[in-house]
Amino acid sequence: MKIVLAQPRGFCSGVKKAVQLLESALAQVAGTSPPTSIYVYHQIVHNTYIVEDFQRRGVIFVDSLDEVPDGSLLLFSAHGVAPRIRLEAAKQHLKTIDATCSLVDNAHQLARHYADEGYKIILIGHRGHDEITGIQGEAPEAIYVVENEKEIEALDFPPGEKLAYLTQTTLSSAETQKQIDLLTSRFPQIQGQAKSNICSATQSRQDAVRQLSAGADAVLIIGSKNSSNSRRLKEVAESIGLPAYLTDRPEDIPIDSFDTGDTVLITAGASAPEHLVKSCVALLQQHFGAVTDAVS
Ligand code: SF4
Repeated sequence: MKIVLAQPRGFCSGVKKAVQLLESALAQVAGTSPPTSIYVYHQIVHNTYIVEDFQRRGVIFVDSLDEVPDGSLLLFSAHGVAPRIRLEAAKQHLKTIDATCSLVDNAHQLARHYADEGYKIILIGHRGHDEITGIQGEAPEAIYVVENEKEIEALDFPPGEKLAYLTQTTLSSAETQKQIDLLTSRFPQIQGQAKSNICSATQSRQDAVRQLSAGADAVLIIGSKNSSNSRRLKEVAESIGLPAYLTDRPEDIPIDSFDTGDTVLITAGASAPEHLVKSCVALLQQHFGAVTDAVS
């Protein structure tokens, strides 16, 4: 077996920042008496290993501020929150640390800008994803979430309506471009970013899979099932016609799906730690005597 390690892969700057902020908060409260609990609104990043590791160290992840006692320390996750959550936190006198990625924050600012200017905003993304819920909260009455071309076809606005589009940061660039093209053909007056709000970390990891897939027999993606950018990496590999497997950790690799003669391209979602990539490589080396092209 030959392993090709995609580059870039794994942690992006937004995930690094969020994890570091939570690490710093833990260091600050270490040894306080009585012990200070740290709460995080939603998963700090969408990675099972990271969340479980912080839970073992006492961090409490919540999906509602009702679960957070007044006056506590609360982090907002990398995916951002709706303004309503910030207001509720202030009413509960919570001490807050904002780990929202600056690129997600940028999408919030654009949503506010367009809504203030009287635009209706078409938000391309996954309904219910933490990032989309947060952005939608900037102007719920003006934002319409669409997930696919069928939903774009079903949109209906009067001629001349002021329209703008925004996208989730972690989508497939190829799919999103098709959706933007459809929006602009249906509503030529629509405003938006030249391409989309897809972040460069998401884009570059997808590009690396496309560029390095020639000669590969399969693609292994290290990341969690609820990680949007990891799932998109799997879809990109499948769109090239390769079998692709998304795995959280070495124990979950579907080992019977691989063969000794395979060339396997390995990448990792933006929230997957590098040590999990190394453990997965080690497992394939043990099972198949795999040799690796390059391990950084
Ligand atoms: S994937 Fe992109 S938007 Fe999300 S945290 Fe990383 S850099 Fe920020």
